[in-house]
Amino acid sequence: MIPELNEEQKLLKRNVRDFVEREIIPIADEYDRKYHPLPKDVAVGLLKKLLPFGYIGSTLPPEYGGQGLDRISYGILGEEMARAYVSLGMIAMMQDAALLPILAKDGTDEQRARFMPKVLSLEKITCLGLTEPDVGSGARDVKTTAVPDGDYYIINGTKTWITNGGIADIAVIFASTDPSKGARGISCFIVDKDESPFTTRELPKLGCRSCPTSEVIFEDCRVPKNNLVGNLGGAYPIALADLVEIRVGVGIGAVGLAQAAIDAAIKYARERQQFGRPIGKFQLIQEMIADMVMVTEAARFFCYQAYYLIGKGETCFREASMAKCFSTEMAVDVTSKAIQIHGAYGISEEYPVERYFRDARTLTFPDGASQIQKLIIGREMLGMSAFV
Ligand SMILES: Cc1cc2nc3c(=O)[nH]c(=O)nc-3n(C[C@H](O)[C@H](O)[C@H](O)COP(=O)(O)OP(=O)(O)OC[C@H]3O[C@@H](n4cnc5c(N)ncnc54)[C@H](O)[C@@H]3O)c2cc1C
Repeated sequence: MIPELNEEQKLLKRNVRDFVEREIIPIADEYDRKYHPLPKDVAVGLLKKLLPFGYIGSTLPPEYGGQGLDRISYGILGEEMARAYVSLGMIAMMQDAALLPILAKDGTDEQRARFMPKVLSLEKITCLGLTEPDVGSGARDVKTTAVPDGDYYIINGTKTWITNGGIADIAVIFASTDPSKGARGISCFIVDKDESPFTTRELPKLGCRSCPTSEVIFEDCRVPKNNLVGNLGGAYPIALADLVEIRVGVGIGAVGLAQAAIDAAIKYARERQQFGRPIGKFQLIQEMIADMVMVTEAARFFCYQAYYLIGKGETCFREASMAKCFSTEMAVDVTSKAIQIHGAYGISEEYPVERYFRDARTLTFPDGASQIQKLIIGREMLGMSAFV
């Protein structure tokens, strides 16, 4: 069940919506056309405006410098930002989720003191690297290696499709410290570009174009041993735990995007006249609007249900995968219908719905493609895994 929003959550929703309507929606289309991706100074400038709402360190406990927000409030932040500008929402989500939750759960006090304040203040931008050119859905087969050498590990390998990669000062990466052990040989490292340089290459893409997505390349990259997070070989569960919550974040982003498409379609259907009346009077247009609203509401339910369970500390692989898979596939359909309602203007850059469609199409891949989400749901229902 989804709890009714309390007064604080309602206030947060109103304040964030007012803010994005005033500051973000007016620039989103222009920036999406102009910046592929956003330059670092522009991205950081926008992130600074989001700080007072709690976008970074939102659910991190106050003793670590976080906001200690509940997960429903976190969902509200994600939904409202995606309704405005999903590319910026993804940059913010990665700054919030790449390192902070991992350090909160598995880091040492020394690592928390060294890195958390710099991430919370945006002095350091973070990214999370699991995917590699030959390792996508089968993430446990990582080929990037980390070999001990005195007080360092030497890291070699390439990560790809990394959100924030090109603007990142810190890459949180998963590398094999013992290839003979498979998933049990994967370890997690904090790679600070200042002391352990790495290079990046931007990957131009269909949607979410102003969010950086990059190859991140490590060539004999020397990383201090005290940047290992958690136990040697114990990082695959760390990655899985972080991914569950990010999955719901991608799902709620798709809900925000679908809501933006509905709002635009309703406005257009009221204004556009054909056959001497607004097209919104035609039953086939009303059917499309009704279908769009029904599936968006259903997706919203899936996402807030998953957040509710995460907030209660429950393991919810099934609910997180349902939220991610249903919401992102739903958003592709809803944004496509919004284009249909706009007629030819829907595919022009004069209206935002073409951006919504491209962004929605892009969201079916991050944190596991739809097929992988369905296999997780199947595994949870059957007690049998397709992956072993
Ligand atoms: C915008 C964007 C941002 C991203 N951000 C990050 C990031 O920050 N960090 C990061 O590490 N990664 C990131 N990724 C990578 C993302 O996690 C991968 O794209 C995803 O896991 C799928 O991997 P792949 O693209 O290599 O596809 P593949 O694994 O090669 O899959 C190709 C197709 O085969 C299907 N498939 C694969 N295995 C099976 C199976 N067992 N059964 C049925 N079908 C199967 C897939 O569903 C897909 O349709 C991002 C991707 C995108 C598009």
